[in-house]
Amino acid sequence: MSESALLAELDEQLRQLDAEGLKRRRRTLDAPCGPLARIDGRELISFCSNDYLGLANDPALVDAACAGARRWGVGSGASHLVSGHLTPHDLLEEKLAAFTGFDRALLFSTGYMANLGIVVSLVGRGDAVFADKLNHASLIDAVQLSRADHERYPHGDLAALERLLAASTARRKLILTDAVFSMDGDLAPLPRLLQLAERFDAWLVVDDAHGFGVLGIQGRGSLSHFDIPANPRLIYMGTLGKAAGGAGAFVAGSETVIEWLLQRARTYIFTTGSSPIIACALLASLELIEQGDERRRHLHRLTDTLRAGLAGSRWRLMPSPTAIQPVIIGDNHEALRVALALFERGLWVPAIRPPTVPKGTARLRVSLSSAHSETQVQLLVDALRELEELE
Ligand SMILES: *Cc1c(COP(=O)(O)O)cnc(C)c1O
Repeated sequence: MSESALLAELDEQLRQLDAEGLKRRRRTLDAPCGPLARIDGRELISFCSNDYLGLANDPALVDAACAGARRWGVGSGASHLVSGHLTPHDLLEEKLAAFTGFDRALLFSTGYMANLGIVVSLVGRGDAVFADKLNHASLIDAVQLSRADHERYPHGDLAALERLLAASTARRKLILTDAVFSMDGDLAPLPRLLQLAERFDAWLVVDDAHGFGVLGIQGRGSLSHFDIPANPRLIYMGTLGKAAGGAGAFVAGSETVIEWLLQRARTYIFTTGSSPIIACALLASLELIEQGDERRRHLHRLTDTLRAGLAGSRWRLMPSPTAIQPVIIGDNHEALRVALALFERGLWVPAIRPPTVPKGTARLRVSLSSAHSETQVQLLVDALRELEELE
């Protein structure tokens, strides 16, 4: 193919995306992450971020980051196994293990990389992964990279999962699930998943990107929410760029599993250690998470306000008890139109379309933060009620 034909093919595919209402666009934010965003000189109330506790720009984290930079510099300079593992990284791992109740924890640069690391180092050809159909993209990619068989069960369908497990002759089995589903906001039935893992001698990997910091006692996460203690067949992944307000992720588990990941996870080994500044900020964040009951209570109240305000709307809410509150619109173009109309009213809510969500379920993904005020949430409710009449 000639150079121009290669480009023409991509251009045609981009036009196709646009025609289907699937072309994405970025907006450049001229303000720190928070309830008020500034874009092209305009101020908007943002319902986009996963900063559920409003910690991303909290003064305590900013101070810890500045002090951290002065004490430890900016870069770690090498991978963790060479010379990029600094005291703040180590301290953070210890605190995360204690906070989640596991033997040990291991930091990764991102949640995406943590998921690839877990799955690829635990299973391979001839093994089988049993995954909820609505799992996050990073978990789907992780299974493909592992070359294990990918058995996907309908969202939350434990009877289907049980049939798949019973029929499997794979040597090693691994059940893989989001704890809080990122586009629906509902919770996985973790106690029953753990029972199945025990009955069929499988690993259970729980991705708690949206539960860590928000759910459970003192924000200890979804396992705490369900009162599930640490268990040798459980592997827990929490991300640190959402409620924790920083960046990165950690995996918590038994001593043996964590040592195995440290030895074998390629996304841990072959990448530069994250900045020590982030680890310092996250140590401060962990304290605020522990003491964050008031933030979590406020977040809960905001969730109630939104749900009560939109009850009976033509645009369906999902049965989500969390700060992720999708408003299902269905059609891609209509979802875009509503998002744009909200934007014009100074309200920023992302329209999520396939392939991120199943076809025909395009939605507004409202995410709430304890940094929002009741008034801000009420403004969103009022605008949606008004637009519903116009559409
Ligand atoms: C955001 C997210 C990830 C990826 O975490 P990053 O740290 O952003 O790479 C993984 N799993 C789920 C469910 C997520 O929502």
